[in-house]
Amino acid sequence: MELNRRNFIKFVVGGAAGIQLTPLPWKLTDDIAIWTQNWPWVPVPPVGEFTHVKSICTLCAGGCGIKVRKVDTRAVKIEGRTDYPVNPGGICPLGMGGLQLLYNESIRFTGPKRRVGPRGSGKFIGITWDEALNLLGGRITTLRKKGSPQGIATVDGNPIRSTMSLLIERLTKTVGSPNYVRVPTIEDTFDMASLLMQGTNGPMAYDLENSDYILSFGSGLLEGWGSPGRVINAWSLWHANPAEKKVKIVQIESRASNTASKADQWVAARPGTEAALALGLCSVIIKEGLYDTRFVKDHCFGFSDWSSADGKDHIGFKTMVLDRYSPDKVGRITGLAPADIETLAKEFAKAKAPIAICGKGKGEVNGSLYEFMAVNSLNALAGNINRPGGMLVCDPLPLNALPEAELDEIALQGLKKPRLDLAGSMKHPFTQSLINGFTRAIIDSSKSPVDTLLVFSANPVHTIPDGGSFRKALKKIPFIVSFSPFQDETAYMADLILPDHTYLEKMEDFAWPAGLQYPLFGLSRQVVKPIYNTRHTGDVILDMAKRIGESIGSAFPWNRFEEVLKERVKGLFDSSEGLVEHDNSSPVWQRQKEGGDLSPDYKSFEEMWEKIKSTGLWHRPVHTYKNWETLFKTPTGKFEFFSSKIELAFTSISQNTSQDTALRDMAISTKGDEAFMPHYETTRHDIDRSKYPLLMVPYEMINLASGWIPNPPFLNKSLFDTQLKGDESFFEINPETAAEYKLKQGDRTIIKSPAGEVRARANLSEGAMPGYVYMPLGFGHTAYDEFMKGKGVNPNEIIYAGKDPLSGLPVWWNTPVKILKA
Ligand code: SF4
Repeated sequence: MELNRRNFIKFVVGGAAGIQLTPLPWKLTDDIAIWTQNWPWVPVPPVGEFTHVKSICTLCAGGCGIKVRKVDTRAVKIEGRTDYPVNPGGICPLGMGGLQLLYNESIRFTGPKRRVGPRGSGKFIGITWDEALNLLGGRITTLRKKGSPQGIATVDGNPIRSTMSLLIERLTKTVGSPNYVRVPTIEDTFDMASLLMQGTNGPMAYDLENSDYILSFGSGLLEGWGSPGRVINAWSLWHANPAEKKVKIVQIESRASNTASKADQWVAARPGTEAALALGLCSVIIKEGLYDTRFVKDHCFGFSDWSSADGKDHIGFKTMVLDRYSPDKVGRITGLAPADIETLAKEFAKAKAPIAICGKGKGEVNGSLYEFMAVNSLNALAGNINRPGGMLVCDPLPLNALPEAELDEIALQGLKKPRLDLAGSMKHPFTQSLINGFTRAIIDSSKSPVDTLLVFSANPVHTIPDGGSFRKALKKIPFIVSFSPFQDETAYMADLILPDHTYLEKMEDFAWPAGLQYPLFGLSRQVVKPIYNTRHTGDVILDMAKRIGESIGSAFPWNRFEEVLKERVKGLFDSSEGLVEHDNSSPVWQRQKEGGDLSPDYKSFEEMWEKIKSTGLWHRPVHTYKNWETLFKTPTGKFEFFSSKIELAFTSISQNTSQDTALRDMAISTKGDEAFMPHYETTRHDIDRSKYPLLMVPYEMINLASGWIPNPPFLNKSLFDTQLKGDESFFEINPETAAEYKLKQGDRTIIKSPAGEVRARANLSEGAMPGYVYMPLGFGHTAYDEFMKGKGVNPNEIIYAGKDPLSGLPVWWNTPVKILKA
């Protein structure tokens, strides 16, 4: 069998459906083994005993269970676990390729290092862990003594709510810096939308398996969105018996992605107009009286026009959408036929358990806040919130918070300084972190306000929109420390490398896989002993805190990271609920719907902890549905179409400035009540479109890693030669647009934006919307080894990242570009 992209997808979906019993995966593994014999670092398993070690995969936000086959001490194969609830038996290509990340010395750091060559050259010399930690600890101490702790900043790419994230945030705070910056994902946007409309801060939970109508606003269900192992398993369930298929999947996306091609219906709306479409659907549903009147009347606020306590009249969501989002108007914005918008709205509203989901592509990059709110509004109109098959509102996992750290005077003074990224400020009151704002603050200062930057589990130079600006900012920072196990682009800019273990060499947790509809805590284990002289970053933080001493040492009383994990997990035990083993006789989504009392399957905390270490699992397969009276934690106690929190923030901000300035600072272009409700705004750029007439949209693929984790080389083999040929990558362009630029298939071009230019070849595709250029994310590395370095180009280099209204997060779609023949 030829190993190509199509077969990969078949494999992944099939794995989830249980066809791992067929010869397909074994043959696939065979092909990989034969192919990989050309590499210098192919692992040669020793003769020895066969064993299996169960763990979880932490290579993405999916939280799949994995089983690693070992021969003696050497790991030789990774498979999906059938006894783990997230991904019954299936894993994705990246998960399969994990061993190539573990054993490939040419992409890993083998021990702590100090830079000797120019930044970006990758020239380092080895030093001891003692030297490295004393160097960093001494630098932090000096900055604190100088009264400048705010000059220490951290960039964190660990999963949201994970213990590593808490530890890094705690370190930043206790040294006295407000500058803890996260790499944004779909979950940042989701959390904000939930807070503003439901009063709760995530986590996102979509009951896809119990739904009968999935309306996806660009979410790459087959590209790795949410928890890919789980979503692809759901996809295979929906398609297991075509004659009895009861679910309709509609994909709204401008390009014929894998998901769009395989969905029941593909709706090609212009990129960036998803909010308008969602509101257009709302307008039809309201006009036709197809919404859940009981839910809206009893549990929603701001639907009808209303008057506030001060006697001021406000327009409601209903008036706004009927007035401004008629199918005709929305048709003009999205490029869709008004009749199609009407049909789609009616179908959605008439389904028994329809669900609308959002977050473009894999969701590894943030979404647009008002768009997420518009999609949430559709779910509210359908009354499908906290119902089987709907969007579930859940409390976070009952993990213990870490005890409050005592801060010394230096830290207290440092924390009074404003955040460099302006997150949480008057400009972006609901955003926790803004990596693009952080970058801009450094670039715009004559001297970098950051003296020492610590980077954890992130490669922003390559992965964030406008990564080129991040690289520029790094050049100005006097001292950079990378904790990456990999020789990535950001690590190459570092002065000091303190390499972490890879995921198969350490214990780390995962708090709630993205989008899963029930609470799940995952814990990985050490599958193999660390191969190189690396150390768990959690342990390194604890060690360094002790070396710095003073109040920082006391804020980290634990000796090992495992002790921190154990302390947090105690909260799960104290909740007196949850199971640490999965009964795979029925899927959790079914049991959750059926309900029932599930007593814990352990008697003491020690027993629970030991079991979690071996199963890698705590989960709660019961859910309280329809508890709307107490569900919403908004100021009105209801689901808010009109967000009281936005209005409150705006009122307080506009006390110090004019309303126009307040709105402009928040990057909102509308005025009045509409600003407090989900609405559509065009992507704003100060760019002369006559010079850059096309729009570039990056896209993601399941068989090409595009986040912090590098691409295992064997995935290259699954790419079409219209995606990567030799060292050249391709962009997709509609033949009609190509003809305007006199481009033929395979032509070499320069794609230019105000942020920069890249060279790529043209792939003429009817699946591309005219006027747009589509570029895959994941290529264009300037670091790593010969299998990644110099392969294709990275669209992040030319993204001109605008500001998403209200959230201020980067807008990474719709960069104006022009094409020149190379
Ligand atoms: S979907 Fe994510 S968690 Fe699951 S195997 Fe793939 S990379 Fe690992």
